[in-house]
Amino acid sequence: MKKKYLLLLVAALGCTTCAASFAQATQADSSLLEAAQRRKEVLIKDLAALVNIDSGTDDAKGLTQVETLLAQRLKEVGASVEIVAAPPAAGKMVIGKLQGTGARNIMLIIHYDTVFGTGEAAKRPFTISGNKAFGPGIADAKGGALLIVYALDIARERGFKDYKTLTVLFNPDEEKSSLGSRDMISKLSSEQDYVLVFEPPEADVVTVATNGIAYVHLDVKGRASHAGSAPEAGRNAAVELSNQIIQLKDLGSAEKGTTVNWTVIKAGERVNIIPDKASATADMRMSDVSELQRVQADADKIVRNKLIADTEVSVKVENRRPPFSRNAGSDQLAATADSIYKELGKSITPVSMRYGTDAGFAYNPKTGKPVVLDGMGIVGDRIHSSDEWADLDSVVPRLYLTVRMMETMGKTK
Ligand SMILES: [Zn+2]
Repeated sequence: MKKKYLLLLVAALGCTTCAASFAQATQADSSLLEAAQRRKEVLIKDLAALVNIDSGTDDAKGLTQVETLLAQRLKEVGASVEIVAAPPAAGKMVIGKLQGTGARNIMLIIHYDTVFGTGEAAKRPFTISGNKAFGPGIADAKGGALLIVYALDIARERGFKDYKTLTVLFNPDEEKSSLGSRDMISKLSSEQDYVLVFEPPEADVVTVATNGIAYVHLDVKGRASHAGSAPEAGRNAAVELSNQIIQLKDLGSAEKGTTVNWTVIKAGERVNIIPDKASATADMRMSDVSELQRVQADADKIVRNKLIADTEVSVKVENRRPPFSRNAGSDQLAATADSIYKELGKSITPVSMRYGTDAGFAYNPKTGKPVVLDGMGIVGDRIHSSDEWADLDSVVPRLYLTVRMMETMGKTK
């Protein structure tokens, strides 16, 4: 027992020395750390208020309430704020702008809609258990939205002006493919040097690539007829659809990281009628945007082979969200994030995510500009589920990270 105790003591001493020299080598900015710590409690209060307002993508009333609160916070940090409609979205975009004295254009973006319906917040309001906080949309992405406004507040307090423009975009429709805000995201992004996206990371990571999302629509036209008395006069669209789905089940590519999965099938309304229409939709994910054309071309070829004569088959790939492809600029920004986290004795790992985010609309693979980094939000997990949580211990390091990232990006030539 005695020997073991001694070993532990030596280990503890070793560790202390190690930490001291480490801190010396990396030099945490203690005034920034203190500024972040000072805001933790009030940020959590704001988070409770935001989480307790339903803001599902179709909830116009709740979205307006959240929009008002976020716009207010942006005004408080000195931003000029514009509220811009985003049809067909139910909510509006909140765009904040700050003018600096530097040379770089930096934008911070995140959505404030959630996947949850009206009444969800009343059913399970904001709660805290240990270092975890729970509630609808807490990590995805209300925590991220507040990290942005509080990081700006710290930056203002520090007199940070080393940017040409600092833009914030809060959009109300990310959970439904950003149909009303995607053009604005792409337009504003094209004017930026850097875009940070505040989707929630699952741990001490940042996201350097996300998948694109597409739908593949399959439609079959046949001929209706009485299923009992004259089935031979009909052309069964449901049977042809089944044939096509089996032929089209391998459109994905393991090598390219593309998946195509048939998930929705519709045909027929009455048991005694041969159906004249049938349709199916597949969920497609890709990391390479050229896969959209490849899948369309392959599918067009395949559907020519029909089982039921005199039916018409068409297939259409619909691009819903382009991928944010792995690129050198984002990898470098992730390395910057890691070196900043090292100042806190932590580290950050770059990851690729299988889901799609607005980073896909911000990043332009043709120009490689702006440099985009996602996963800057509050750490959390179980998103889109009723036990979604946010790690409150990540608030301070993530605020520190955001401010230091802005300062570092502002200095780049
Ligand atoms: Zn999200």
